[in-house]
Amino acid sequence: MLDIIHIEIYQGYQMDKILLMLQLQAELNDATNGEDWTKGITKNGRKINWQRCIYMECAEIIDSFSWKHWKSLNKEADWDNIQIEVVDVWHFVISLAIENYSQTLRGGIDDLAINISELKCFNKIDTTNELFASQEEVIEKVENIMLHSLREEILNLEGLICDFFDLVVMSGLDLESLYKLYVGKNILNQFRQDNGYKDGTYIKVWAGEEDNIVMKRVWQENKNLKPDMLYKELTKLYLELNKS
Ligand code: MG
Ligand code: MG
Repeated sequence: MLDIIHIEIYQGYQMDKILLMLQLQAELNDATNGEDWTKGITKNGRKINWQRCIYMECAEIIDSFSWKHWKSLNKEADWDNIQIEVVDVWHFVISLAIENYSQTLRGGIDDLAINISELKCFNKIDTTNELFASQEEVIEKVENIMLHSLREEILNLEGLICDFFDLVVMSGLDLESLYKLYVGKNILNQFRQDNGYKDGTYIKVWAGEEDNIVMKRVWQENKNLKPDMLYKELTKLYLELNKS
């Protein structure tokens, strides 16, 4: 069922969006990996590698472009999916950041939220943006993010976050839309869990479209929709789908 945090988020809409996303992510990680996840290990004893999660999601961004020089040369970039994948990368960047703050004793979520909002590069995403960069520029930026996450020596967390914020702007997003998509994806994750995601009975493609894209459209077309209404709307669409 819908988690209470989603309601609180709406009521606290004017609060620091970064802090709210960090709190939501920490909750999600507590629930899926156990409360000791910041030590780099799940409750089932599996090693956690956030950096790998980041570069694998980065590959999904690149795959949303027709980057192959031998195939689908004139296919348009799938910007809707690119924005979803950027949000996926963000899940893992903030997980890595929370883990890093904990392991290096830099502080908790509140300290991290303050430090992110004080970064010079934070201003970039704090202004409305609907412009897209070129394929070449985006891929170059994504590969920079991959390099940050492939490095074995000391992590340049601020550099990674600032490159990520560049990517946010280049993919036509800003703090507001990043936040909205992040919360939407969180609700979709909840919806998936409530509808058989773990046992494999969940249907991910809804009438030819991935559930991600449906969520994004519903969320964007109804500007005043609250998170709990988004959940209900997804339920309605999913039931209609199963009827036919
Ligand atoms: Mg994907
Ligand atoms: Mg993805």
